[in-house]
Amino acid sequence: MSKEYEVVIGLEVHVELNTKTKIFCGCSTAFGGAPNTHVCPVCSGMPGSLPVLNKAVLEKAIAVGLATNCAITENSKFDRKNYFYPDNPQNYQISQLYYPICRNGHVDIQTEKGETKAVRIHEIHMEEDAGKLVHDAFTDETYVDFNRSGVPLIEIVSEPDMRSADEVIAYLEALRETIQYLDASDCKLNEGSMRADVNLSIREKGSSEFGTRTESKNLNSFRAIRRCIENEVNRQIDLLESGEKVVQETRRWDDEKGYSYSMRSKEDAQDYRYFPDPDLVPIYVSDDLIEEIRSRQPEMRREKALRYREEYQLPDYDIEQITAEKKLADLFEEAVAAGADAKKASNWLMTETMRLMKETGTDAGKLCFSGAHLAELIALVDAKEINNAVAKEVFEKAVFAENISPAQYVKEHDLSTRTDDSVLSSVVDQAIAANPKAVEDIRNGKGKAVGAIVGYVMKEMKGKCDPATANQMIQNKLKESGIM
Ligand code: ADP
Ligand code: MG
Ligand code: ZN
Repeated sequence: MSKEYEVVIGLEVHVELNTKTKIFCGCSTAFGGAPNTHVCPVCSGMPGSLPVLNKAVLEKAIAVGLATNCAITENSKFDRKNYFYPDNPQNYQISQLYYPICRNGHVDIQTEKGETKAVRIHEIHMEEDAGKLVHDAFTDETYVDFNRSGVPLIEIVSEPDMRSADEVIAYLEALRETIQYLDASDCKLNEGSMRADVNLSIREKGSSEFGTRTESKNLNSFRAIRRCIENEVNRQIDLLESGEKVVQETRRWDDEKGYSYSMRSKEDAQDYRYFPDPDLVPIYVSDDLIEEIRSRQPEMRREKALRYREEYQLPDYDIEQITAEKKLADLFEEAVAAGADAKKASNWLMTETMRLMKETGTDAGKLCFSGAHLAELIALVDAKEINNAVAKEVFEKAVFAENISPAQYVKEHDLSTRTDDSVLSSVVDQAIAANPKAVEDIRNGKGKAVGAIVGYVMKEMKGKCDPATANQMIQNKLKESGIM
């Protein structure tokens, strides 16, 4: 009978901070520019150029540290991690080894059993990203693009506290949610603004010592992370069961092929010759700065959820959906502030907005309409200025796509369904006359048949009419003439 094993996992997570400029120079961090257009002597590693720390990077790193319950280091500094690689023009990366900016934090996750568990954070440090090598398979040449060189990163190093793939995903989701709410990064695994390296070992259940770990890289989706973990657990168990040893090494996960292979073992681990960077002054973080950043921290998801329940009596399902993305929560609050009914605003976000996001492949962060315009649309419907079908169209074409005023759009496109009562009245008369079968049914007690007459009216009015108003008028007329 095989033994029972426990999985032990610690993560190293890199997050690209969304500051406008790079960590040590004024170059843009914008993604997707033509190669080597966002570069200067500093970020292309020219000898004699001098780096200067971008204060926004420091502040965002501290904000993440505070939100993950870390202690902020009063006196921290940068170190050089020396290595040669063509995407690293200085031949060293500026990072923090000895005095990282944040230490000893934790993030709470829900375990599969529904319990709250704290995953401890060993440290968070700031560093610069490297450039990118672009391989041209056709010419068999490799080009180097330094646009990403010097983009700010934080590395969040956890303690080996996770015990399953589910806990790893829960931890990453908690980190992502926190960092997105802080507006420090969009945290996209598939675009590389969040990258996770998984350190994994197994041990016999009950053992107090850790086993030898491997580190898996190249994980760019939650799915890949889960599959890599399952695969690595089985690989290590097989090794131990067959009397072999796990080798401490870095492995690369190939998600397409569904297997991992060794990149380098500990024996050929590099010696980075770390030493303090003499070009950068030490960083002093005052209590005042910490308090200032603390006072600017936004309301986080959990607090928001509680408030939405209290203040707006929103159902839990709505709260879950809307607070999942900070941007949706912002839009909801804007709409309510502009006078919209909370539940109606929530409905528009959960149904039409999410449907259009899916259809157009738009991430919440890229939504460009204002909550005020959503409120305006809801007011138009409430005032029976437009009916629901027209409202959906106006939402899609005016609000969602263009962020233009729905009232203005309705006016310009003559979409108002507010009708002159005399016009509607004559169309209703016409409709009753044209539907003798329905009238007969109604006379015989089939009230549902009114629907056919309403449909006729809507068609005659080319949809520009409030169906409930039409329905009411039809019923009134039928009652007057004793049919109903
Ligand atoms: P290194 O300095 O070699 O990178 P660290 O001690 O900084 O190693 O650990 C790197 C990551 O590996 C951390 O997230 C840590 O939690 C995790 N880790 C360390 N030991 C183990 C282990 N035995 N099993 C699983 N994860 C581990
Ligand atoms: Mg490490
Ligand atoms: Zn630069």
